[in-house]
Amino acid sequence: MSRVHYVLSMPDPNSHLFHVRMEVKGAPGASVDFVMPVWTPGSYKVRDFSKNVQDFSAGRHSWKKVDKSRWRVASGGDVAVDYTVWAFELSVQTSHLDSEHGFVNGASVFLYADGLKDAPVTLEVRPAPGWKVATGLERRGRRFAARDYDVLVDCPIEIGKFRERPFRVRGIPHRLVVHGPGNYDEDELVGDVRKIVETEIRIMRHVPYRHYTFLLHNTAERGGGLEHLNSTALQYPSHNYRPREKYDNFLELVAHEFWHLWNVKRIKPAVLGPFDYEREVYTTLLWVMEGLTSYYDTLVPCRAKLFTPEKYFKRTAERIQKYEEKPGRKRQSLSESSFDTWIKLYQPNENAPNSQMSYYEKGELVGMCLDLEIRRRTRGRASLDDVLRALYDEYGREGRGFQEGEFKKVCERFAGSLDGFYADYVDGVADIPWNRFLGVAGVRLEKEPRKPEDGEPARKERVWLGVTMQKVGAAAALATVTEGSPAWRGGLSPKDELLALDGVKVGSDDWERRLEECEPGDRVRFTVFRNGFLREIPVTLGRKENTTWTIKKVKNPTPAQKAVFEDWLWSKWEVPRKKKRP
Ligand SMILES: [Zn+2]
Repeated sequence: MSRVHYVLSMPDPNSHLFHVRMEVKGAPGASVDFVMPVWTPGSYKVRDFSKNVQDFSAGRHSWKKVDKSRWRVASGGDVAVDYTVWAFELSVQTSHLDSEHGFVNGASVFLYADGLKDAPVTLEVRPAPGWKVATGLERRGRRFAARDYDVLVDCPIEIGKFRERPFRVRGIPHRLVVHGPGNYDEDELVGDVRKIVETEIRIMRHVPYRHYTFLLHNTAERGGGLEHLNSTALQYPSHNYRPREKYDNFLELVAHEFWHLWNVKRIKPAVLGPFDYEREVYTTLLWVMEGLTSYYDTLVPCRAKLFTPEKYFKRTAERIQKYEEKPGRKRQSLSESSFDTWIKLYQPNENAPNSQMSYYEKGELVGMCLDLEIRRRTRGRASLDDVLRALYDEYGREGRGFQEGEFKKVCERFAGSLDGFYADYVDGVADIPWNRFLGVAGVRLEKEPRKPEDGEPARKERVWLGVTMQKVGAAAALATVTEGSPAWRGGLSPKDELLALDGVKVGSDDWERRLEECEPGDRVRFTVFRNGFLREIPVTLGRKENTTWTIKKVKNPTPAQKAVFEDWLWSKWEVPRKKKRP
């Protein structure tokens, strides 16, 4: 039987180069193709990781490059190759090495031998002096072992002087591995991570791993996460653990990536593993994989008592408002957004808000509606939890992928036909009647006047321009222009660099305040650089309601509404009164 062994070393971390030796034993045929993935599972973008490979050699055997990511070595049997990888991008989808630490996302570092992806793998990591290794891979003495290449690259590796915080849930070892400082109380943070783990296991009722590792990088700016089989890589800005609202984002990130260990790592369409690493793979179901995970990442902290129901509703109402204000929701359905992610969501152009709808943003909301719809049709006897548990039991436990239509079929087993729901909200772009769904749990979406911030006069309407900005040095440049907005009608354009309003200099820090000082209907002269040429563009400012959206409990709920509310959020309908001190 064939076997593959890798040696990963880093003799000079500051060179940002990982050295890899890969030994293949028992390769059939007269030659072996060594291939570098073009993408990494969980992040649907062609990244062509082979661009970072250099110094490829195959010992005494001759070799040639046969396509952008493929090296053909003219020998079968036992073959070894050496190469180095430029690792200088610290994101969860890429790899990084510097004098502080190393991070390996396997798909961007390890070649595979074509035809031997299923062969068992061992790995030896030779860390820089004084560094430790943390990964979800199984340890076998001095080596790590994996069933096959898919598992190898589904276990990111942190190498450095990280802090390690172990904890157990249901007797199973978990650990938080932290690189870099953060403005949090580490005991409190570990306690909260643990509550999220406990709650998600309570929902899914089965633990498919023997140990789990959270790899956390505290960064200067960047955030993000990538899910893996029995670990996850998280990045979070080190100063964003305070105040509480920002910390809530961290809790959602943890809940999101951990939820993925079921939803997408095990409950998944067939194209999402085993993977074709050489090209894009297509599915209309990323809204289920990512949207439903985003739904649970807010619901789980609520069920874990880390968010109150009011906080859950506040965050959800904000997302509904954001969704409603995006013109792209009328153009791109959830299934289209999923299918085209490779060229749209992961590579948005300036017109994206007008032409696209993210399957994260809409998928989360449609996931909530679907959950409430199942609860309505089954009179509270079933929910989306049951659908996911059924998919997990029937496919996920064995890691078997399902066909495109299977998710809908399993939902329908509980809820009856969802043809209409799908035609409107999944394959179509119909308006979502929020209160029809929310009403099932006795809550309502409402608009209310926005509370003025400190020193701000109360007003019924606000000025509307319809742009987003990005910083260019101290200046502001238009990033996007909303279709049909005053900015769009007046002729402003993405990339216009904003210099002055009505002849007075304006910058990235004060353009919003300066606009707020105007009234709806005012005609304002925008002075901009467009492609390096000075232009004056007059725009008549529009108006929008000065409202925020809220979700509130109805006054007189039925017993059925109360029951759904309580089963959904794991919270009592009646808020417990605080005891008055005698
Ligand atoms: Zn995700």
